[in-house]
Amino acid sequence: MNVISRKIKSLQCTECGSEYELGPIYGGCTNCRSQGKSGALEVHYDLDAVKLSRDWLDGGVRSIWEYRQLLPVEDPNCFLSLGEGNTPLTNDSYYDQQYGMPHVYLKNEGFNPTWSHKDRLNVVLVSKTKELKGTGIATSSTGNQGISAAAYAAAAGLPSYVFYPPETASIYHRLTGMYGGKAVVTPWESRGKLLRKLVEDHGFTPSYPLVDGELSNPYGIEGYKTVAYELVRQLGGVPDYILAPVSEGNALTGMWKGFNELLQLGLTDKLPRLYGCQAAGADALVQSLHQGDEKVKVLDEAYSLATSTRERTAGVHVLRSIRASGGGAFAVSDRQIQDTMIALGKRGYCVESASAIPVACLEQLFQEGKVRPEDKIVCLITSAGLKWPDLIAELAPPPLRIEGNWESFSRETGL
Ligand SMILES: [Zn+2]
Repeated sequence: MNVISRKIKSLQCTECGSEYELGPIYGGCTNCRSQGKSGALEVHYDLDAVKLSRDWLDGGVRSIWEYRQLLPVEDPNCFLSLGEGNTPLTNDSYYDQQYGMPHVYLKNEGFNPTWSHKDRLNVVLVSKTKELKGTGIATSSTGNQGISAAAYAAAAGLPSYVFYPPETASIYHRLTGMYGGKAVVTPWESRGKLLRKLVEDHGFTPSYPLVDGELSNPYGIEGYKTVAYELVRQLGGVPDYILAPVSEGNALTGMWKGFNELLQLGLTDKLPRLYGCQAAGADALVQSLHQGDEKVKVLDEAYSLATSTRERTAGVHVLRSIRASGGGAFAVSDRQIQDTMIALGKRGYCVESASAIPVACLEQLFQEGKVRPEDKIVCLITSAGLKWPDLIAELAPPPLRIEGNWESFSRETGL
């Protein structure tokens, strides 16, 4: 570790460049809003004043706070941790055998404390809320985001409310309760309005965008930068391709910011190509990228068995990040998602349906013909499959039920 200084300049509007002091500002840029537009805020560092050497990315990292020089929480007494981050990156040799691609890796975020990548967002967001002396955490969620927010709120001693749609598996409601939060099941479209009311009238910190298509809480998204830092450490350099499932798109946006900051600091020498991966029934980003749109369109309706990515639109920032990276976007059918979940299971991975999407998209990436055998390709596995027991029960065979003797076992197994 060789740190001389860190400088956080401000919250800066991604549209008009207006700057704001760091504080509990969650409704975006007031300057843009006064002109009837919307502008998201992001944490802006004075990178010229940040002096980090390459060994900052080396060695054994035990906590994401070892990356605190580029995270927006300043008081170490407010650093929360439930053991998030430092997740495994494993090589999937199937792609070497089938396609001659020996460097395909799975970054398995299912190893986080609440079994998803959302813990990176919430550990930073709730720590910052503690530093700003906020009163509680509120979020809209399809599942992962909700239990993660509730767990970190609990770690901070804060109350939490989570608005879930009816389709979310009931285990999420109960887990929210286990973490001391309040799960509220309500129709899809009413979640945003309720969240806004709780934030604006009761001082809660939102852990989800208050406006569709905008960035999440500007502090939370910084947590996703740590995926970029870990990948550079684990691979010994920047991967060539990253494929990730996209709902609102915050994870890819945050990772892109992380890779760009590393490049500007001179700690790396290139950027990865990003690919957004969606279900065919909820593919607003894919359509907008292919059609050259300036913003992500809003679908009339969205459906997929991959509930975690079932959103009608996505943020403009993920569209811009992917475009700037020279990457792209792919969509796959629910059938392909199911088949990939089953195939991954047979290789030792039980992943959430949304996490199977980037793996299901690999074949399309190979068919583009740009990828070279020496390229390093990372699929972001965002969450564990165990959270959706009803879907697992549909995909996996039931147990053998036998009498308590060898003959019965032999009859069923043929042994
Ligand atoms: Zn603005």
